[in-house]
Amino acid sequence: MIIDLRSDTVTQPTSEMKQVMLNAPLGDDVFGDDPSINELEAYAANLFGMEAAVFCPSGTMTNQIAIKVNSNAPGELICDELSHVYKYEGGGIGFNSGLATHLLKGQQGRLTAAQIEAAIQPDDVHFPETQLVSLENTCNKGGGTIYDIEEIRKISRLCKERGLKLHLDGARVFNALVEADYTAEDLGAEFDTISVCLSKGLGAPVGSVLLGTKESIKKARRIRKLFGGGMRQAGSLAAAATFALKNHVERLKEDHARAKILGRTLEHCSFVKEVLPVYTNIVVFEVQDDLLHTNIIEQLNKADIKTVAFGPQQIRLVTHLDFTEEMLGRTVQVLKNIH
Ligand SMILES: *Cc1c(COP(=O)(O)O)cnc(C)c1O
Repeated sequence: MIIDLRSDTVTQPTSEMKQVMLNAPLGDDVFGDDPSINELEAYAANLFGMEAAVFCPSGTMTNQIAIKVNSNAPGELICDELSHVYKYEGGGIGFNSGLATHLLKGQQGRLTAAQIEAAIQPDDVHFPETQLVSLENTCNKGGGTIYDIEEIRKISRLCKERGLKLHLDGARVFNALVEADYTAEDLGAEFDTISVCLSKGLGAPVGSVLLGTKESIKKARRIRKLFGGGMRQAGSLAAAATFALKNHVERLKEDHARAKILGRTLEHCSFVKEVLPVYTNIVVFEVQDDLLHTNIIEQLNKADIKTVAFGPQQIRLVTHLDFTEEMLGRTVQVLKNIH
C-alpha cells in the first residue's frame, strides 16, 4: 500500500465519477458547444452567486488569466509573500501581465486591510500604479489557513474605495468553506474574480474554474485562447468536476479530521521540532535542527509514505479523498517509529 501525502492533487477519479465521465455529452467548447462544460460553468458561478465562469486546464491558468483581466500594465499587484500566484506560477505575474509584484508579509499567508491600505502606492510618477490585490484562501504555504470573512469584507471595501480589483485564489476554497462561518455566496459578493481548483481536495482529475462578471469572463475567454487553454471536447473533465462539486464538498471535513490526527501525532514525535497549527487538510512540520528533513522524507519513503520538502527543515503532508482511515492508521504507526 503506497500512501501518497505529497498533495491533494494525486487523487484518482472514483468509479462513480468515471461513469459520469463516460456518459458526459460533449461538444466543441471553443465554440461554446460542450453541454457538460456549460453545465459546470453555470453550476459553479451559481454556487458563488457570480454571473459567469470559464473552465480552464489548471489553477495556474485561471489565476494568471484573472491577473490579466483585472489589470492594465504598467502597474502592480499586491499579495502576500507566500502566495501561489507569486511563488509557484513561474513568474507569470511579470511575464503574462507585465505587472510588478508588491509583496507583503501577512500572518501565515493572510493579509489585513490595514496592511494593504498602507501599501497602496501614492499617485506619483515614480511608483507603479497599484491595480490589483490577490488573496489566497485557504493559504497553502501558510499551512492551510482560513481567512476571516470580516477581514475579507474590509479588504473588499478598501479595494472598491481605492479603485483596485480584488482576486481570490480559491484553489482550496471549499476546504475553507466547510470549516468557516461563511458561504460561497458570501465570498462571491466580495471578489471581482475567484479561481477554484477542481483537481485538488474535490478529487476531479483536471481543471479549474474562474468566476466573475459576464464582462470579465468574456475577456477571460479571449485570454484563455491566447494562453493555449481553449479545449475542445473536454466535457468529460467538466462532468467529473460537476460531480465533485455535488458530492465531494462535505467530505472534506474527513480530510481535515485526519490531518488533525497527523498533526497531533507529530507533536509527540522526537524528530519533530514544531508542527504548524492544522486548520484544514495541510500539515506542515519542522524537523529538529540536528536532523536533515530530507533524511526523514527518505525514511518515510522507504515505508511507502510519500511526502514533500516544504522549506528549510519543513515537510508537508496533505490529506485527500484517497487517504483512507486504514492509511491514517498506518501513517501514525510509521511516524511513531521514526527517530
Ligand atoms: C494548486 C494551486 C494552484 C493551481 O495549481 P495548478 O496545479 O496549476 O492547478 C493555485 N493556487 C494554489 C494555492 C494552489 O495550491
